[in-house]
Amino acid sequence: MKYISLLGATGSIGRQTLDVIRQHPTEFRLVSMSFGRNVKEGLKAIEEFQPSYVAVQNKEVFDQIRPVVPSNITLNYGPEALIEAAAFEKATILVNAVIGSVGLLPTLQAIKEKKDIAIANKETLVTAGHIVTAAAKENNVNLIPVDSEHSAIFQALQGERHKNIERLIVTASGGSFRDKTRDELKDVTVKQALNHPNWSMGAKITIDSATMMNKGLEVIEAHWLFDLPYDKIDVLLHKESIIHSMVEFHDGSVMAQLGTPDMRVPIQYALTYPDRLPLNTERLNLAKLGQLHFKEADLKRFRCLHFAYESGKIGGTMPTVLNAANEVAVQAFLTDAISFLTIEDLIEEALSKHNVIHNPSLDDIIQVDAETRKYVQSLIS
Ligand code: NDP
Ligand code: MG
Repeated sequence: MKYISLLGATGSIGRQTLDVIRQHPTEFRLVSMSFGRNVKEGLKAIEEFQPSYVAVQNKEVFDQIRPVVPSNITLNYGPEALIEAAAFEKATILVNAVIGSVGLLPTLQAIKEKKDIAIANKETLVTAGHIVTAAAKENNVNLIPVDSEHSAIFQALQGERHKNIERLIVTASGGSFRDKTRDELKDVTVKQALNHPNWSMGAKITIDSATMMNKGLEVIEAHWLFDLPYDKIDVLLHKESIIHSMVEFHDGSVMAQLGTPDMRVPIQYALTYPDRLPLNTERLNLAKLGQLHFKEADLKRFRCLHFAYESGKIGGTMPTVLNAANEVAVQAFLTDAISFLTIEDLIEEALSKHNVIHNPSLDDIIQVDAETRKYVQSLIS
């Protein structure tokens, strides 16, 4: 039996994680969870899974639900509660599915308390990858990817030796605007951007997919998870999202992981690793698909991908700035405060103003993250 703590239970990954738990009641038990402000979904999950600990984002939500949550369930709110939920005593594994760098401190605390980590929350690895991976090593805990590309690479690497890797090939659907030219991106709306062709995901990552920042964040995530330099991590456009990523070895052999696009597969694998369990997912039928398409990723067309490679190569606090600027800019776009292409301009501006700190401490990262948010916000308002 695995005892699970789930951060972000009401989100896209969170709800799919609950579905995996629901399908295997003798294997998994939800002991702790968090959600933000979605009271309806949050209460539904509490009622069904009866966790021992629940963290919510703020006091308003806490006051609203305390009267209806059974008194044997500990309920708390705010950033400290998120950390407590992550590192909840009875949990053996944390599924981190919150959005944004708010996931960093809870992850670090759970690692300290020797929980394995199933990491969907890529912003945590982008903003402080060296700290998180070092802590995982030091505490001897597994850091298992949930992101489909990284799960694919992780699966392709089972039984392989790190020294034999030639390069990683991270596939990208291209997002909602993959067939548009830069000129055609000028007037796109939030609604159009939220219409992803292959995946149904939370709003922030769907916009990140449209700007290709998602792939940029994933390149940095891959750098930390698989301990490889950026010139060994390539991005390949593959519009069907069937090959979830690949590893090329020195002998020219390429290992790929395939499947229909369903995030429950990598979520469940992170929970069962190194074992597997059945799952009621749509099976891959290659004969029916007929063909798959591939195209080089153009860094001039996808400026955010270029920014991510550059920030990753510079290292230090540069990826922290990239991530924080992106979080603020995407939020502004989602609320119609800026246009789609302004997302890129704001990120570029924040990166160009930053004096990088090499080998930053956790405090440096927290400070740079806060300063960047404030700076980008000041450019918007
Ligand atoms: P969603 O926006 O759907 O869900 C985010 C979750 O985090 C919700 O439960 C939300 O609560 C909660 N939350 C948001 N802000 C805060 C906060 N400040 N404090 C506490 N909780 C908060 O996101 P996704 O599920 O799409 O993505 C989650 C993570 O997984 C991201 O890092 C994303 O990049 C990654 N990922 C997602 C994929 C997908 O298919 N969705 C695929 C691969 C990676 P509430 O809604 O109740 O306010
Ligand atoms: Mg992904």
